[in-house]
Amino acid sequence: ADALCKECFYYAFEEEIHKTIVDAKLFTEGETVAIGASGGKDSTVLAYVLKVLNDRYNYGLNLVLLSVDEGITGYRDDSLETVKRNQVQYDLPLKIVSYEELYGWTMDAIVQQIGLKNNCTFCGVFRRQALDRGALMLNVDKIVTGKAKKEKTLQSVVGHNADDVAETVIMNVLRGDIGRLQRCTAITTGTEGALPRCKPFKYTYEKEIVMYAYFKKLDYFSTECIYSPNAYRGFARAYIKDLEKIRPSAIIDIIHSGECLSVSKSTKLPTQGVCERCGYISSNPICKACVLLEGLNRGLPR
Ligand code: SF4
Repeated sequence: ADALCKECFYYAFEEEIHKTIVDAKLFTEGETVAIGASGGKDSTVLAYVLKVLNDRYNYGLNLVLLSVDEGITGYRDDSLETVKRNQVQYDLPLKIVSYEELYGWTMDAIVQQIGLKNNCTFCGVFRRQALDRGALMLNVDKIVTGKAKKEKTLQSVVGHNADDVAETVIMNVLRGDIGRLQRCTAITTGTEGALPRCKPFKYTYEKEIVMYAYFKKLDYFSTECIYSPNAYRGFARAYIKDLEKIRPSAIIDIIHSGECLSVSKSTKLPTQGVCERCGYISSNPICKACVLLEGLNRGLPR
């Protein structure tokens, strides 16, 4: 990598993302784009850079911040305060949707009920739908996300920055999940379903995002979720970090390999329909969120 001064680094960082956006034709003029905003550094940098590029290159996008409140005291309540400050700093509208209003359960209540073992399965499934539902309420055309959550399951994990995408490829290989392996390197997903999601940071390294946020002194929240088990993705991450020591291009190589994989036509893949209960896209008659909710509600004391 070249050694750059701060100003040139900012410019190079922003231009690389602009190039990713233009090459993949991620946006069309006039679109409303929801930025999945958690208050963390990736989504904060994403919101900031998209605003800069939207102004610099006249993308003509209406940007909005969209946050999901999982109901985790001591974590999400604090990070949402950061998003509320970003709303003012970047002058963007903000919408918050909560698990409590959508499902009748906060993560705090879920953990109280089921303990700390499968909490991230619930959280991951619920978050994915919550983002879509919030985006539909806002009438947006697309959702952009900056960061894959660190939940231990693969339910809703789509990699968002380059490190995340590489981790997701490895995780899907280890799991033998061909359906997800095929999708996980796509820069835009979900075009067939509810709302397209895209990742402008697909080729952006985590360390660049950290540096950008740090030197720009962006206001972000960096505490981990108090319920985070950090297991599976953490192993994939550590493995890739080791690989990088002997082969510095490991991350981009893994993404490239993922992009080059193609699934044989004779492989049976799940077909997408809609959930009979809530109407959300699902490859089963009842979607995962409804199945999980049923279990939760059944366990409720009468
Ligand atoms: Fe949800 Fe926390 Fe698990 Fe992330 S780590 S999926 S926020 S419970």
